Amino acid sequence: MPHTLDTERANLLIVDDDVTVIQVLAKTLAGIGNVRYALNGADAMRLAESDPPDVVLLDAQMPGMSGFEVLEAMRSRPELEDIPAIFITSHNSQEMEEEGLAKGAADFIAKPFHPAIVAARVKTQLRLKRALDRLRQLSSTDALTGVANRRALDEALLKEFKRAQRSSTPLSVILLDVDHFKIFNDTYGHGPGDEALIAVANAMLEATNRPADLVARYGGEEFCVVLPGTDGSGALAVAAKLMQKVSDRQIPHTGSASGLLTVSIGIACFDSSSHGWDESTDRLRESTTDATANEFTSALLKIADQALYAAKQAGRAKAVLGRESSDTDHPR
Ligand code: GH3
Ligand code: MG
Ligand code: MG
Repeated sequence: MPHTLDTERANLLIVDDDVTVIQVLAKTLAGIGNVRYALNGADAMRLAESDPPDVVLLDAQMPGMSGFEVLEAMRSRPELEDIPAIFITSHNSQEMEEEGLAKGAADFIAKPFHPAIVAARVKTQLRLKRALDRLRQLSSTDALTGVANRRALDEALLKEFKRAQRSSTPLSVILLDVDHFKIFNDTYGHGPGDEALIAVANAMLEATNRPADLVARYGGEEFCVVLPGTDGSGALAVAAKLMQKVSDRQIPHTGSASGLLTVSIGIACFDSSSHGWDESTDRLRESTTDATANEFTSALLKIADQALYAAKQAGRAKAVLGRESSDTDHPR
């Protein structure tokens, strides 16, 4: 959950090769948050990776990695790329500011600095960072169920597909659709319908335990789960657990054969038998642009959708593992 400046202490990282500068800054910022420090860029990266700070203060000129190089290294890591960096420069150099701004610096503070001004500027960056975090969270979350929305799903699927292809690890996708949900709404009303969707979303969260697993609302009463590093049999196991978690909730549904609300599931798996994995993989890997990867993920979703249709045809409340077929559209 996003935090506010008032309720949670900020996590600050100071990077400077001059110990006295660190001491002064640490004292200045102690009232704002927990301060960690590093005397060089490599240590800064280690600290940032172990626990991403909310704001980083970077000495522009350090032996070894310069502050700008630290910023560049941070920008290349998804989990660190949005951290605002305030540069500390020893003199008012316009060129340095220009370079820093072009590379994404949030602000500059010239030495010798005035503690109150440093504190105020850090607070400004914290506020901006938190407002942005909140916006990002809102724009990637489904308002009804709180799980990821379609947008976040598309992004995650693309990222995980590329990772799977790069590392030759399987990737499974589960599509879930609530059975006879139109009748459910007609019978019980839209309010209980919405509550049932929330219950299904929670059941899905309970059934997925790995940190990289992603549950998303695909649209309407359809949900999607992205399972990195999971093969077809693993995905079938998750699907079984998922159906069990839904049935544990015992949601009455007179329009359903069992008298309870059920779900149907279609699964697609990108694995060693998939197009794009085999002998042409090296060539594909090199040429996999976002557009190509998007075609692969669309093909995966289509396979899952066809499997979902098969599960519905087979009587619902079932999971079907889909296979690539001759009519699966492949990227060339
Ligand atoms: P099937 O078993 O074949 O999936 O039948 P179904 O009735 O579930 O399928 P269909 O796709 O025809 O109906 C989906 C229904 O889901 C339409 C609508 O009544 C309901 N629905 C979609 N989104 C929402 C939502 O956000 N809230 C509620 N309450 N109902 C929704
Ligand atoms: Mg549907
Ligand atoms: Mg349905």
